[in-house]
Parts: sequence; structure tokens; C-alpha cells
Amino acid sequence: MHVAVLESHEMERGIQEPPGNETDHYCFQGQMLGAVDTDRLTAAYKTLTHPDAVWQALAEEPAALVGIPTAYPRRRSKVPALRTNCTIDRYGEHSDAGWLRTSARVRNSPASVPFPTDGEQNQHQESSSSRTLAMTVDAVDYKALPKIELHAHLSGSISRQCLHEVWLKKKENGETDLQDPLIEMPLGKHDYDLKTFFPLFSSYIYHLVSDVWALRYTTLSVLSDFASDGVVYLELRTTPRAMPHAGLTKAQYVSTILSAIAEFESTTTSALKTKLILSVDRRNTLPEAYEVLALCRQFSGQGGVVGIDLCGDPAKGPIDIFTPVFEEAGRTIPGLGITLHFAEAEASGTEEELLTLLSWKPDRIGHVIHLNERIREKVKRRGGMGLELCLSCNVHAGMVCGGFESHHFGEWWKVEETVVVLSTDDVGVFGSPLSNEYALVAKHFGLTRADICSLVRRGIDVLFGGDEEKERLRALMWSA
Ligand SMILES: [Zn+2]
Repeated sequence: MHVAVLESHEMERGIQEPPGNETDHYCFQGQMLGAVDTDRLTAAYKTLTHPDAVWQALAEEPAALVGIPTAYPRRRSKVPALRTNCTIDRYGEHSDAGWLRTSARVRNSPASVPFPTDGEQNQHQESSSSRTLAMTVDAVDYKALPKIELHAHLSGSISRQCLHEVWLKKKENGETDLQDPLIEMPLGKHDYDLKTFFPLFSSYIYHLVSDVWALRYTTLSVLSDFASDGVVYLELRTTPRAMPHAGLTKAQYVSTILSAIAEFESTTTSALKTKLILSVDRRNTLPEAYEVLALCRQFSGQGGVVGIDLCGDPAKGPIDIFTPVFEEAGRTIPGLGITLHFAEAEASGTEEELLTLLSWKPDRIGHVIHLNERIREKVKRRGGMGLELCLSCNVHAGMVCGGFESHHFGEWWKVEETVVVLSTDDVGVFGSPLSNEYALVAKHFGLTRADICSLVRRGIDVLFGGDEEKERLRALMWSA
């Protein structure tokens, strides 16, 4: 049986289950909910806001419930769910990484049987195992699995709901003429290709997220989304943007994001730690690229910037003008990692470009789609290079042919000389959280639980956040 422990923001924003992830039960604030209609659950939460009220609303249709409240035992008598005939023995355990989704045992029992609290063993329930209705354990609970995300763009990771909230506030204040993001980017639309993807940012998202308030709000939302997906280490990347109307310089843009990260880490109990990578956009001029380098220098070390990236529309080029910038980055900023969007499209997959990129001595490369055998061998020969592979992004955007089964993950993940790290790229656009990316590779490439744990842990070797962070993660991440 599959039990999903929901957090309040999921209730607020809608419950997104990865395809094929068949959840039988939902748990919210210690209450087991049964085969509820998630739309109705979300709608009830939005309308009533208080968990008790949600429960009450759901309980009006007791057929939808199989559990009874555990968090509020004294109020059980007020809840019509007493009419149901199942209780839950165990519904999860708390860990530093947040709620673990775990097996639960549902059994027929009178509703008067006391519930265990977290971690409490209950002899009576143990002895009642013969009455267990269902007791199976998921091979891997991908959301609970502590994960690292190394290739995520800040602006592309903002959920549509969050953009909608920003839009609503700006609309109320008369600060925007933009269309509602939920109309601009309808829920469920993920088939942005390279032609439609980049304009989405330049003509829409950047106009909406255009001041300190929106930047902070969206950053906090992105961090919260990754944390609730079980990400425990995140390298978020962004191209520094000045916001002239808000009087914000590029340096202030970076410091605003870093402050939001610090705020998130100091005000939540999440295990998520986040570092920043600053990106040079392929459309940048050389002076603009040097500006990014200067910001890396300014905010590296204790400041929170750990890497530099080359990103942007692969149809734009050539990129060799940036060679001195990346050479200087590697030579003069100690500890700064270099990651590059690599062979993302045919246009950016010429041997000439890829040899130039490799000459910058990247620690990691992203996408790695259009490369010939010679370049492939060079990548392997570098030894230990990180490959940030983004399945859903590549498939939804039509960057690869043949769907998930044909994705080049299958070609690379067992290659000893490289380190594959699954990444989302732009989860706000492509809609597949990191937990789902792991579920997808397990499904399409037959990875076992041991394979998955080993894949996630190998990513530690190529992160930019330093040895202390690596140690923390080695202790935190599952070894099998
Ligand atoms: Zn990317």
C-alpha cells in the first residue's frame, strides 16, 4: 500500500501525484485519509482552511475515508468518520528529512482502538496482524528518498500556482497588465519546446517576477517545493538580472536570493540546504559575462555561490567569446565549480562547440544529448565528470526522440567513468518533480532499490557545496 504524507502547501496548491504513482491513502497532519478525491480534498482545504474543517467536510462523505483522526483523538466523537471501520496502525515516521512516507497497515477494528503516536509501538495492534487488510511496502518511496538536485533554474522552477499568487497580488495593486499565469501556462501543459520555452521567460515570467518582493516570494516557494519533494541538497542556478524599475542591481538580485535561502534555512526544520550557481547566458555580451564572473567572486566562499554555468537558448552563439571568462573562473576563484549546458540541441552540439566547452574544464555538464562518439570518449576520459540528465524536460520539449525508454540515461547511468545526476531543469514548466524523475528511470530502465540509492549517493561526489556538506549528505542519504 502506498501512503502519501501531505504537507499543508500541497493541500493549498493541489496534490500532484507523479504518473503511475498509485497512492491508496493520504495522510495529513497525522490523519489518515482514504481513497479521497484529491480535487475535492484540495477544494475543501482552500475553502475551509482549517484542518479540522477539512476533516469535517470530508467526513460528510464517509465512504471516502478509511481512517480516523489521530492528531486530535479527543475530537473523534465529533467526527462522522467513526462510521468507518478501519484504523491505521502506523502512518509514518518523522526524520530530519521531514515526513517519511512508509508502509501503513490498515485493519478492520473498532474505531475505539487507541492510536499510537509517532514511533509508539502498540502491542494490541501488533497482535491484531491477522486482521490486516493490506500490508505491502513500496520498493522505494521516491519522495521520502533524500535526494540532491544539481540542475534547476530558479525562474523555471517556480510553480504556476506561485506565479498565479504573485500575479494576483500585483493585479490587486494595479501593478501588472499581464495575463493570469494559469491562462498563459495552463495547468497540465508541459510540451514547451525550445522555440516556445525561452520566450516564456523573456516575455512573461521575468516581467512578473520583477521586484524584490516577488523575487523573495518565488524563491521561498521554490525552496519549499523542493524540500517537500524530499530534496535535501539543492544547487539552484540563475542568470543575474537587474530590475531597473525596482531599482535593483544584479548584485542586489543575487543577494536577495541568498537572503531568501538563509531565511528559509533559519525558519524551517527542513533538511534542505541550498547553494547558488550563477549563469552566463549565451546571449550575453562579453562584458556581461565578466559581470557574472565578478558576482561569483563577490558571493563565493561563505557567500553561498558555488558555481558558474553557461545556459540559454542553444540556437544562440557562438560561445567561444566566453572562453577567457570560464578560464579565469577556474583559475582564480578557489572552489568555484564549472557546469555547462552541453550538446542540448543540434545547433549547440557541433564538435567545434563541444571541444571549446570541454577546454573550459567543466566539472559537470548538463543534458549531454547531441554528441558524437569522439566527444563521448573525451567525456569519459576526463574521469568523474558529472552528467546532469533531465528526462522529463528532454522528452516533453521534444529534445530527444523515442520517449523515456530511449533517453540517453540508459546509455550513461552504468558508465563508471562518469557520474549521472538526475535533475529537473525547470520543474515549474515541465511539471515533473525530482521524485518522479527517479520513479521514471526505475520504471523505464529497471533500476532496483539498490540501484536508485547508489545513483542518488553518487551525486554527492560532484556537488559544489564542499566537503562538510558532502559529509552531512553521506550521513543523511540512504545507502540501500
Ligand atoms: Zn538547464
